[in-house]
Order: sequence, then C-alpha cells, then structure tokens
Amino acid sequence: MPSDNCPICGSPADHIRSDPYERVRCERCARFDITRNARDDWPVNRLSPRQIANASSWIREHEGVRLKSDDLDQLQSIPTPSVAERADKLLVFLSQKYPIVGTEFLVAEICNSMEAVAKSWSLNSGELRYLLDDYLDGPGKLVLRSGNSVRISPDGWAHLDQLGKANPRSHLGFCAMWFDSATEDLWKEGLEPEIRNAGYQPFRIDKHEHVNKIDDEIVASIRRSKFVVADFTYGSSGVRGGVYFEAGFALALGLTVVWTCRKDLIHPEKIHFDVNHYNFLAWEPGELEDFRDRLTNRIEAIFGHGPYKTNTPS
Ligand SMILES: [Zn+2]
Repeated sequence: MPSDNCPICGSPADHIRSDPYERVRCERCARFDITRNARDDWPVNRLSPRQIANASSWIREHEGVRLKSDDLDQLQSIPTPSVAERADKLLVFLSQKYPIVGTEFLVAEICNSMEAVAKSWSLNSGELRYLLDDYLDGPGKLVLRSGNSVRISPDGWAHLDQLGKANPRSHLGFCAMWFDSATEDLWKEGLEPEIRNAGYQPFRIDKHEHVNKIDDEIVASIRRSKFVVADFTYGSSGVRGGVYFEAGFALALGLTVVWTCRKDLIHPEKIHFDVNHYNFLAWEPGELEDFRDRLTNRIEAIFGHGPYKTNTPS
C-alpha cells in the first residue's frame, strides 16, 4: 500500500487509489474516502491549523466518510467544541482504550498519540497535554496523577456514566421528521434499519397507536427516549415546525439530538439554524448507503452498541 501524506491534515497515511474514490488511512483522521477532485480542491494552504484540526477530528468521528468537492465548504467550517466537550471526548477515549479500572497509562504516551489528538479535537499534543494534565487533573479530579502516569479517578468514572445519558435505561430512538412520500425512503432505508442496526428501537409517532392527544403523546414519547433523530427536510408547504419543537424539547431534557437533512436544504437560508453550529448528517435520495453508515457510526460513537444489536460490526 503506497504511503504518502494525508490530503486533509498532512499526517503520514496509506492510500489505495481507485476510481472515483481514493481510500486513505491516516494516523490522525483514520479511514476515509476522497475523490481526486476533492483532494485537489482542499485549500490546505489557506486554512488555519484549527480548521485542519477540526476537519481531521470530524472525519475521525465519521470513520469511512466519503468526501466529494461539494462537501469541502462544510468541512472547513466545522466549529470547535468547547474545552469542556473536548475534555469529555478525551475522557471517553481513555475509558475505551483503558477499560479496566485502575489502569495507569503514561502521560507522554497519550500526548504523542495522533489518535488521542484527533479524538480530543486538539490542535496538537500541547493542547492535548493541557486537557489531560491541567483540565482533567484540575479541580474535579477526573484523573489522578502519580509520577509520569495517570489513571481515571472514581469521579471520572462517575462523570462518564452521566455523559449523554439522560435516560440511561431507554432504548428508544425517537424520529422527528416530515411524514411524506418524499421522506419514506429515508425512513425505510435509512433511519429505521440503521437505528436497529446500532441496537436501538426506532420510534415514529405516526406508526404508533395511541389514544391520547398527539401532542401529549409526542412529549411523553420524547421523555421516554434515549435520543432523538431530527430530520429537517421539508417540501413546498414550508418548514416542519414540529421537528424544531421536538428537537428543542429533547435538548431541553438533556437528550442527544442527531441532526439530519436532505443535502440540498442544508443552507442558512433554507433551515432555521446556523447550519455550521450543528453537525448535520446530509442524505440524498437514492444514495442512502453513505448516510446509513454515518448514522450508525454517530449513534454508536455516542452510546455504544444498543441491546438490540444483532449483527457484528464490520
Ligand atoms: Zn489526516
């Protein structure tokens, strides 16, 4: 396999060249596919180190993503998570790498790991060292240090238990969306099978028999859910106010919302969000395969495999 630098971040990478996508395995971004045009169009010399770091971390969180030229505007506008969010991501990474409680690991080993740099959305190993050594080892003591080593503290494990777990025992994935023939394939070929594939139960209010007023039923169902997938696609009758309400209500409850939308509508003049602020998963009619992988990856990256997962991960 030929080695070369990664077209996105410049780190060492292996490449498999084929048409229309080249497969890249980068030590920082991990595995992704990119077209020759996108590779040539990525304006690496005009981007700040932060933009490149954010693009790399985003790709790592969406392992296997396929990048085309028209994805690049969004890729260079990925917002930087807060320091607290980055510290949480680092703690999650450490807990997955060292799942046995009490395991000590060398600070230097983590700080020199490009995987840890990317997973914590750090600019470089200096920022990573701050998150590990100053932030996590700061007042809350989420890690404990002894000499050159650290280990996750009891408070750190307790903090991990709380992350993204507003309803820890729920297995429901509530789907807020426009119920229309235009989104039927999204449901049948995307949301429904992939939420199941991640091990959770997809839930759509119009598929559910209920005797209560529908608004009450929606509120009650969101309260019982583990997460909400909100699809903001709409047709000529205008934006779907219900989807905005359901996503906002879920956020207020502390639930994770996975934001999705048909690709042509992800534009500041078409949906009522700063689209750069939310990390939308785009889908295109007839091309749902890529979306399916990204949806499963997103859900599993946040919650891990759910109890209903039947197939083995590839
Ligand atoms: Zn890279």
